[in-house]
Amino acid sequence: MTSVLNEPYFSDEAAAFERLEQIVWPNGPVCPFCGNMGRMYALNGVRTKPSKKHPEGIVRHGLRKCGECRKQFTVRRGTIFEDSPIPLHQWFQAAYLLCASKKGISANQLHRTLGVTLQTAWFMGHRLREAKRDGGLAPLGGGGGTVEIDETVQGRIEGAPKSTGKMGGRSGYRNVALTLVERGGSARSFHVTGTTIAELKPVILANVAREAKIMTDQAAWYPEIGVEFASHDTVNLARDEYVRRDGDRMISTNTVEGYYSIFKRGMKGIYQHCGEKHLHRYLAEFDFRYSNRKALGVGDNERTVRAITGIVGKRLYYRQPA
Ligand SMILES: [Zn+2]
Repeated sequence: MTSVLNEPYFSDEAAAFERLEQIVWPNGPVCPFCGNMGRMYALNGVRTKPSKKHPEGIVRHGLRKCGECRKQFTVRRGTIFEDSPIPLHQWFQAAYLLCASKKGISANQLHRTLGVTLQTAWFMGHRLREAKRDGGLAPLGGGGGTVEIDETVQGRIEGAPKSTGKMGGRSGYRNVALTLVERGGSARSFHVTGTTIAELKPVILANVAREAKIMTDQAAWYPEIGVEFASHDTVNLARDEYVRRDGDRMISTNTVEGYYSIFKRGMKGIYQHCGEKHLHRYLAEFDFRYSNRKALGVGDNERTVRAITGIVGKRLYYRQPA
């Protein structure tokens, strides 16, 4: 077995362009201006204008000219890599590190490993996280699958008092994450403003199929939501009941709690400075790794390719670091 880091697209810029082209254009190049898939010219050896830093200019990899509209483009165009001063092979490195680390990777670690500035590392991490958000997918639990639902508190709401006594641990003072996990399938998490039925119900109804069997703990808000689904079973965690058998059915929320245990360890160890306004992006990152995990037959490399595929076409308007 050879190291995946030997893949040329992690170190060679031309190879990185080739790899991205395979992902973005599986059926050959497409002009982003006019949609032409036919006549196209590869412009080899073109360099950027000389600058102080690069007196001979930089080679423009993967440059093409459309035979129809005569405009020039590369595969970066229209992706989050567009206009990025960061070399493409470094994006592959960052995507791999983010995809292969179970609990995530901090901006500081990316900064040290990739040799980019901390600001650039932070920017790359968030762009990659944003690319992993998968809005608008089919609801979980279609075909009668089992979906476990739970929520957890994560971090203090900005401006909330630091010490709030007994109540400090609950929502109202803390950010709340809601997570839906289909057994044997994907996870989907949301940053919600609280645990009211009005807040949780629309999210759950929009993301879980009505024919799903749902399992939750005995929190007060679940009965009214649960009646909307094929079945709703609960475990009484307050009485230390974690698993209950009902015929051949296993009633538990262990799957979603397993998800949270990885999420919590990551947030505590890696992303302890996670700002409230980015919580949804960190959730997307943990969802992505969970939904593309080894147990589902997705290895680190395949996960990276899937992340890059998800990146294509997505835009995020952070200000670019210099
Ligand atoms: Zn064209």
